[in-house]
Amino acid sequence: MRQEGEVSRDQGISVDAFVDGIDRGDRTVLAQAITLVESRRGDRQSAAQEILSRLLPATGNAIRVGITGVPGVGKSTLIDALGMQLIAAGHRVAVLAVDPSSSLSGGSILADKSRMPRLAAENAAFIRPSPSASSPGGVARRTQEAMLLCESAGYDVVLVETVGVGQSETVVADMVDFFLVLVLPGGGDELQGIKKGILELADAVAVTKADDGAERVRTAVAEYSSAMRYQRPRSPSWQPQVLAVSAHSGEGLEKLWDLVTEHHQTLSATAALEAIRRQQRRQALWRQIDERLLETFRSHQEVRQRLEQAEKAVLDGDRTPSQAAAELIAAFEDRLAGK
Ligand code: GDP
Repeated sequence: MRQEGEVSRDQGISVDAFVDGIDRGDRTVLAQAITLVESRRGDRQSAAQEILSRLLPATGNAIRVGITGVPGVGKSTLIDALGMQLIAAGHRVAVLAVDPSSSLSGGSILADKSRMPRLAAENAAFIRPSPSASSPGGVARRTQEAMLLCESAGYDVVLVETVGVGQSETVVADMVDFFLVLVLPGGGDELQGIKKGILELADAVAVTKADDGAERVRTAVAEYSSAMRYQRPRSPSWQPQVLAVSAHSGEGLEKLWDLVTEHHQTLSATAALEAIRRQQRRQALWRQIDERLLETFRSHQEVRQRLEQAEKAVLDGDRTPSQAAAELIAAFEDRLAGK
């Protein structure tokens, strides 16, 4: 028997039921649709794509915010506090995550309900951990599509959490409107330790735990502010800001959200936001093409047969990598052309 809110069991997948359920904002159906999006099974994948394409006109209405920072910086505490503030102001908040590999991120679980206990108890919030790690591109696609599903279910704020590991920040920055980098109030050495390039992605840098040592926090804000002056802003219409926040005392949280909305209004007014999103869709398209082509290539019988020998020839120094690659691709193309 099918339970209420449940639209896919072994009876097959009813695309209509999914579309209706998500349209109604049914969280059980939304969660199941995200499971479809994450599935590797062909029939589930094609159902997911059909659902997404039906819902596409109802997407794009959320403010999309990426949040990154090292484990312990205060991401989940901040999301819990900020999320509660947003819900009190009438928003519906979805929290998603990009975790390229849980082994790389030191086992920190992102978008975890137990780490956002107040938000997790709210009807106006939807929290979903990262899809299980495959390729970064695979995680990116799944999170991006989960975001579209959340938007069509009426969530008007989507927070995407990530840790500063591998490509995960770029992956998240490429799917959101506003990218927030959280840093600890250490300044000096902390600033040295910050990953190169991360500040370049930031629309705002927030020094966390502002309740804990006013002097250190002030110094950190000053140091990050001066570091940011040497960065090329992510968007020409927005000068990145540095502020202090405390999830415990609430300090800076309103200011933080004011910045996000000001950014949204500024970029919407000049059509820059739509330009960014178009560019992001272009990137997503090419990421998919790259991934799928590579997958098709790698799994092709002709390639698989020759790969070991080609690799050996390159490793032994008998062939250059270019030669070997060209030969493999030529063999692949010949097979595709039916030669
Ligand atoms: P995450 O790993 O980035 O998600 O970090 P958490 O949100 O789990 O926070 C790590 C630690 O910092 C926890 O012990 C929190 O209680 C603490 N913490 C987080 N936000 C604040 C804050 O605003 N002030 C203070 N004093 N501690 C905080």
